[in-house]
Amino acid sequence: MKFGTKAVHAGVEPDPSTGAIMTPIYQTSTYVQESPAKHKGYAYARGANPTRNSLQKSLAALENGKHAICFSSGMGATDAVIKLLNPGDEVITSNDLYGGSYRMFKRVFEKYGIKFHFIDLTNAANIQSVINAKTKLLWIETPTNPLMNIVDIEACVAIAKKNNAIVAVDNTFASPYLQNPLELGADIVMHSVTKYLGGHSDVVMGALIVNDEKLYQELHFLMNSCGAVPGPQDSFLVLRGIKTLHLRMERHCINGKKIAEYLKNHPKIGKVYWPGFADHPNHAIAKKQMKDFGGMLSFTLKDDSMDKATKLMESVELFALAESLGGVESLINHPASMTHASIPKEERLKSGLVDSLIRLSIGVEDAEDLLADLEQALSKV
Ligand SMILES: *Cc1c(COP(=O)(O)O)cnc(C)c1O
Repeated sequence: MKFGTKAVHAGVEPDPSTGAIMTPIYQTSTYVQESPAKHKGYAYARGANPTRNSLQKSLAALENGKHAICFSSGMGATDAVIKLLNPGDEVITSNDLYGGSYRMFKRVFEKYGIKFHFIDLTNAANIQSVINAKTKLLWIETPTNPLMNIVDIEACVAIAKKNNAIVAVDNTFASPYLQNPLELGADIVMHSVTKYLGGHSDVVMGALIVNDEKLYQELHFLMNSCGAVPGPQDSFLVLRGIKTLHLRMERHCINGKKIAEYLKNHPKIGKVYWPGFADHPNHAIAKKQMKDFGGMLSFTLKDDSMDKATKLMESVELFALAESLGGVESLINHPASMTHASIPKEERLKSGLVDSLIRLSIGVEDAEDLLADLEQALSKV
């Protein structure tokens, strides 16, 4: 089955009791059993809920995986992956990571004796210098947030496998429409479902998708034991959102390209970070592992000043100044003071996250209106 057909149909079957075409919101905490040892697959709603199950089937299908597990947020999903590890284990990850992941790794899990190496993963060979017998996990994010660096998933998997480390990919920025890491050899795909999958800025949720049965059982155990599960109402909203994922992604990509090209030619703009440009350092890998280049991009002002960046963000009218991404509406964000404020300044400057860096999440509006808004806002800085 092709992607668009799966987006519309996978996981959703007419409700057996009424024929309702959409999976109902099973708003219940528990299920009545026939006898103490006999139930219909549902005992208590932390463990399983039919609306959530339907969504999990849909997510597994979209990533070409066998199993999906939903969590109450992307961070809840990430937390479960790190809890697979034991004190003394080591993780290799990128020095250009989602701020919340960096914060969790550094400030929550380091004190439990797990060691994190933050390195430049855009060159997979860098892994060789830190990988060792204690390395249990490689955590990849690609494209990265907010600098749109591309990590070669297959090349990283090859090195990790030789050392028996598992590979997890945060696929939030690409969405399953653009990239399917399990097919490139990864063991776990993580999504902040909050973003493109939900797509309408009305839900916070996370998910993990895997093929391996043992890994699935371990992660499912952690989900049920630690309890960061989403409710049925949110599961329903995401199921509904997914039905148009392919249509939304198509438009995000078209609009993203138009805006990236406009910014690149604008006299007040410094750098534009977007993997679709032929001169992007990892353009060839992006082309190889992604279907298209997406609607996320970042740029700097030629005059790298915090004041000018602030003025620009206050001047836009259609773009909303907000954290998050992947919704139908276009958002503008200032990583240094918003999403990445928890990363120390010296650290963020090292990876190019300068004061005037601005990130855009391009929505599905008409591109002409978005371009006009940027034009008027740039004329004021
Ligand atoms: C938002 C985001 C997360 C965290 O997900 P939440 O749903 O906000 O907990 C992780 N990784 C990336 C790349 C994100 O954009």
